[in-house]
Amino acid sequence: MPESLENRLASIQQKITAACAKAHRDPDTVALLPVTKTFDAEVVRGAASLGLRRFGENKTQEIRQKFEALSDLNLQWVLIGHLQTNKARDAARFASEVQSLDRLSLAQALDARLQAEGRALDVLVQVKTSDEPSKFGLEPAELPVFLKQLASLDTLRVKGLMTLAVNSPDAQAVRACFRSLREWRDRLRNEGFEQVQRLSMGMSGDFELAIEEGSNEVRIGSAIFGRRDYSH
Ligand SMILES: *Cc1c(COP(=O)(O)O)cnc(C)c1O
Repeated sequence: MPESLENRLASIQQKITAACAKAHRDPDTVALLPVTKTFDAEVVRGAASLGLRRFGENKTQEIRQKFEALSDLNLQWVLIGHLQTNKARDAARFASEVQSLDRLSLAQALDARLQAEGRALDVLVQVKTSDEPSKFGLEPAELPVFLKQLASLDTLRVKGLMTLAVNSPDAQAVRACFRSLREWRDRLRNEGFEQVQRLSMGMSGDFELAIEEGSNEVRIGSAIFGRRDYSH
């Protein structure tokens, strides 16, 4: 019998709690962001019935579809995937948070759309912490200038940083990515960017390491919802 969503969720929550205990951290400082990309609205409905309210998605189109299909529930949608500038309007309408903010042109497009909608968004700045060419994000050294530029955009509330670790079996290499994000966060705060607090880092395969290195939010998809099917 396949394990139920409820069991898999409980097991992940236990692992998060155990990783916090090992790192001498308060479990209340580590949120779980369930990632429902590719899973349909009914799967999200099942997760909502277990008490989950915020969901991570990597496409505005999927956020829009699920937002509409689940409008009877009061859910929050968090965009974690690369956002094209021409999709800023849907993000401004349907997302409550964008964790993949990685360039000024996108920030400006979001700000314009948010002003039109009369809304604001929480944002995390996506940072490149490895040399993998496929990863989006700012180079860490670009952060101070970027954060200063964001300060003039009233609709964007900067809350922290997000990263994806290198995709590697080498735990030390993965850990180094997470550690680097934490060190940059601490450095930015010392330089007066006090709004930079949260660290979104860690996924199904590496969240325990991320918690040891200070993560405040682990984004977990397959370990809760199963393998994704990209065939349709
Ligand atoms: C898909 C995705 C995740 C979740 O990945 P899993 O390995 O399924 O847990 C986390 N973060 C981002 C940015 C993603 O695109």
